[in-house]
Amino acid sequence: MSAIGEILKESKKVVVKIGSNVLSDENGFVDKDNVRNIVEQVIELIEAGKQVVIVSSGAGACGMATIHKWARRKDINYRQALCAIGQVELMMEYKEGFGKKDIHVGQILLTKEDFSDPDRTLRIRNTIYTLVDENVVPIINENDSVAVDEIKIGDNDSLSAQVVTLWDADVLVFLSNIEGIYDKDPGASDDAKMIEEVRDIDSLLDNIEVKGTSSFGTGGIATKIEAARRVNEYSIPAILLHGKKKDILLKAMAGEEKGTIFYGKEVAFK
Ligand code: GLU
Repeated sequence: MSAIGEILKESKKVVVKIGSNVLSDENGFVDKDNVRNIVEQVIELIEAGKQVVIVSSGAGACGMATIHKWARRKDINYRQALCAIGQVELMMEYKEGFGKKDIHVGQILLTKEDFSDPDRTLRIRNTIYTLVDENVVPIINENDSVAVDEIKIGDNDSLSAQVVTLWDADVLVFLSNIEGIYDKDPGASDDAKMIEEVRDIDSLLDNIEVKGTSSFGTGGIATKIEAARRVNEYSIPAILLHGKKKDILLKAMAGEEKGTIFYGKEVAFK
């Protein structure tokens, strides 16, 4: 059994972070087939006895796909308005997908301030616990229509790490549009190698080229590595998988697909 397979099998509480590029196609439209496939996989995990919280990006991307002519508007009010529109589209996809198995979804939209106020943080935690206990799938995003640059969490990689610690999850899974961490840019070098296990993030950062963000998301490799570091501090592993590959979660759990695991210095499993 692969290490990723083992971790996914043993984990009861799973946070799945889904990036904007995983949810949209190359033209910026919602990749409905992929959203459905991810939802179906989450349903299988739930049926196998796991609890799943989703942190989903995609409000901005879905908003632009809905009102295309606003795509060129760079002013903040339009960008925030697009997120307000896109968040509804996004939730409709999730609601429809989970609804096929009569599973309800609950939307939670958060800002950075929510995490600096202990009362609010406690209420968020209680809401997540209540939803999950009642077999509802929480779907969390940043409240992009409220947050402006100065008060933004900024990327859902950090938000997902905060959710992991708040809910005391067993594992954080990033579904992104890359297969894992490479020592070099795989687009530019044929001999780029995937790093399957990371135990020391500082030495990883000394040895790889970290650059760029993806076209729709605000994060990138750097924010994933920092989010992994954050959960690793609590001995919680993080796994990076290619979210565009069909059945990736199930295949990774069966040891049939690879990705990168961040264990941190303290080994949680093994
Ligand atoms: N909250 C943003 C959205 O839903 C995405 C942030 C991110 O890509 O990390 O569009």
